[in-house]
Amino acid sequence: MAYDEQNIFARIIRGELPAIKLYEDDQVLAFMDIMPQADGHALVIPKTPAVTLLDLPPEAAAYTIQVVQKVAQAIEKALDAKGIVLMQLSGEAAGQTVPHVHFHLIPSSIHQLGRHAAQMGDQEKIKTLAEKIKAEL
Ligand code: 5GP
Repeated sequence: MAYDEQNIFARIIRGELPAIKLYEDDQVLAFMDIMPQADGHALVIPKTPAVTLLDLPPEAAAYTIQVVQKVAQAIEKALDAKGIVLMQLSGEAAGQTVPHVHFHLIPSSIHQLGRHAAQMGDQEKIKTLAEKIKAEL
């Protein structure tokens, strides 16, 4: 699948759309999911244009995972999370809805996850959770 430069996450990377950001450097961006499946649901994306993990150059994948680990550690501390579901959907057939590769970090249990990308979260609550997580980064 060709990469669509107008997808939502590409627009967030370019600063054309807002996001509640947790961490950013020249290669990676971490931000809060707008329709969280649990409190503290965050996303980590490489800035490299790639639709799925399978399209991402291995060096970019390796660096993105380092940031996934860093953000997961911050979520664990900030929210006293007992476990974090790390989810990566590659391809529409797997349920991927935004065509820019991303990792979900969801402080929850696989047995208790709410529905995927289903309901807008309370953005003020999400901002408060983001401040707590950022304080641990
Ligand atoms: P996917 O279904 O592609 O694995 O996950 C896409 C995720 O992006 C979903 O969890 C959805 O809630 C989230 N999402 C969709 N649009 C936006 C947006 O505009 N901003 C943010 N922060 N998250 C979004």
